[in-house]
Amino acid sequence: MDEIFDLIIVGAGAAGLSAGIYSSRARLSTLILNEGAVGGQMVLTEEIANYPGVETTKGYMLANTMKNQAKEFGCKIKSNLKIKSYNLEGEIKHIGLEDGREFRSRAVILAPGGRPRPLSIPGEDAFRGTGVSYCATCDGDFFTGKQVIVVGGGNSALEEAVALTQYAGKVTIVHQFDHFQAFQHAVDQAKANPKIRFIMETELRSFTGKGVLEEVSMEHLPSGEISSMKIDGVFIFAGYMPNTEDLEGIVKLSDRKEIVVDEGMKTSVPGVFAAGDCIVKRYRQVTTAVADGTIASLSVAEYLRQTTMSQGI
Ligand SMILES: Cc1cc2nc3c(=O)[nH]c(=O)nc-3n(C[C@H](O)[C@H](O)[C@H](O)COP(=O)(O)OP(=O)(O)OC[C@H]3O[C@@H](n4cnc5c(N)ncnc54)[C@H](O)[C@@H]3O)c2cc1C
Repeated sequence: MDEIFDLIIVGAGAAGLSAGIYSSRARLSTLILNEGAVGGQMVLTEEIANYPGVETTKGYMLANTMKNQAKEFGCKIKSNLKIKSYNLEGEIKHIGLEDGREFRSRAVILAPGGRPRPLSIPGEDAFRGTGVSYCATCDGDFFTGKQVIVVGGGNSALEEAVALTQYAGKVTIVHQFDHFQAFQHAVDQAKANPKIRFIMETELRSFTGKGVLEEVSMEHLPSGEISSMKIDGVFIFAGYMPNTEDLEGIVKLSDRKEIVVDEGMKTSVPGVFAAGDCIVKRYRQVTTAVADGTIASLSVAEYLRQTTMSQGI
């Protein structure tokens, strides 16, 4: 408790780990506090093929490399914890944990990322883990030889659908529009896969089953026709929600609950910066999270230099 870190980073995803690498390499004493598994959404991604300089790799491997890199430079990482309180006003920032520990620092980078957006339809919560999943990497293997639905039409949905064909016998992509939001190469790859079929302009309406998921109902939007389908599993890739609930009233958030930052990743509170999927921005990728983390870390270094100079230290 006595130590005052130069920097505390909240979140050990691509953004937080990148900020950790830069800051600890710049000899700033740096602590990362992370709620879940180190690596964040990278760990949920079967394969990452678009991270420059790294040939197609498993998401968890890229996360592991970033973690080791940060640790080698002296960055401390504490994970599987729950933050209870933030006191970020003033020169010394205080972050309290549910277990009673408190950590202090001169600057903070918020990088809590996001989580998959649920469909919020009947049965979704009840069958979470027994047929409904948000992670092909984590759960794909359970559906070897079985029939699954992938919900969504963006890059994650189409790429994870292709990844699921390693396991599943058949993958049906159900998408609400008549076109996809994914990049063309992802669409082409999915269309070329003989195990994948498509149901367009359709939304799932409910999940049913006895103990495990057995059936879904869906609505064809143009006609309003409701049909049902026997299914073993449903993987949902329908967008994301920022993990910023606890930051309401602490830093300025947008209408979509994303953290508002300037081009230097500064938030509305002096000495508090933010990076990655949690900020207001258009494209959410590992590369963009890494870039945000880098910028935030460089801004922290500048902020600390200025505050030290103004204090005449
Ligand atoms: C299925 C899927 C496939 C994807 N495929 C690709 C791809 O192929 N290529 C690509 O570039 N991008 C891909 N992405 C997007 C990419 O993974 C994300 O944009 C990027 O990883 C975001 O990094 P981040 O550090 O901002 O957030 P996250 O990865 O979400 O990390 C945030 C971390 O903060 C922790 N955290 C959350 N709340 C708190 C809290 N209150 N206190 C402490 N810690 C907290 C979380 O546990 C997590 O570890 C994919 C995403 C998904 C879901």
